[in-house]
Amino acid sequence: MLQVVPVPAFSDNYIWLVHDEASSETAVVDPGDAAPALAEAERRGWTITQVWNTHHHWDHSGGNLAVKEATGCTVAGPATEDIPGCDVALSEGSELRIGDHRGRVIDIPGHTAGHVALVFEEAGVAFVGDTMFAMGCGKVFEGTPQQMHRSLQRIAELREDVKLYCGHEYTLSNARFAAHAEPGSSAIAERLARVEQMRADGQITLPTTVGEERATNPFVRSSDWQEFARLRAAKDSFRS
Ligand SMILES: [Zn+2]
Repeated sequence: MLQVVPVPAFSDNYIWLVHDEASSETAVVDPGDAAPALAEAERRGWTITQVWNTHHHWDHSGGNLAVKEATGCTVAGPATEDIPGCDVALSEGSELRIGDHRGRVIDIPGHTAGHVALVFEEAGVAFVGDTMFAMGCGKVFEGTPQQMHRSLQRIAELREDVKLYCGHEYTLSNARFAAHAEPGSSAIAERLARVEQMRADGQITLPTTVGEERATNPFVRSSDWQEFARLRAAKDSFRS
């Protein structure tokens, strides 16, 4: 079993610690800030052996060098992006290992040109960075709407019970937009109510699952990239 725990960072980022008890290995996904990740690992008695990056943005990779210096870990990240301290270049089909768990890398460009997802399908977990959020998706900074639409579809094609670990706590704002985009959806209305309650209680709304996103994420549900592009533009100017 892979244990995954959140480490809140900055105002709304999540760094994820991934621990395999059998081997005592721990990976840290997207350490934008080293201090909280190192502190949480230490608190749990875990030693970080790997950094995995989904993309190059500073709030995901800015702590790489400090984590590497503190632990001597290896750093893996997208082959085509500028990743601080990168030892292992990742691209479509690359394999990741932690203990006996094997993950595969899929290219999901759009938010950034080289963005990757880290998928441990057997363990039922996937790290999707800033490409898919709960009930939403990342902004298209470096790629095209076509690419982003395809990238979301690739995540949505994973097994429906796979847990998705995203890079930010944006769920409430996304849920409000989803309810606006699909006013007739009772699944979205119910999830919005649930998310409002969770945030009011100070709870983290992640991880989500592939199945939940298929049912309640308008960006995943858009039928083609043109509809996706219209939704993305509408969300960019939406004030909830
Ligand atoms: Zn980003």
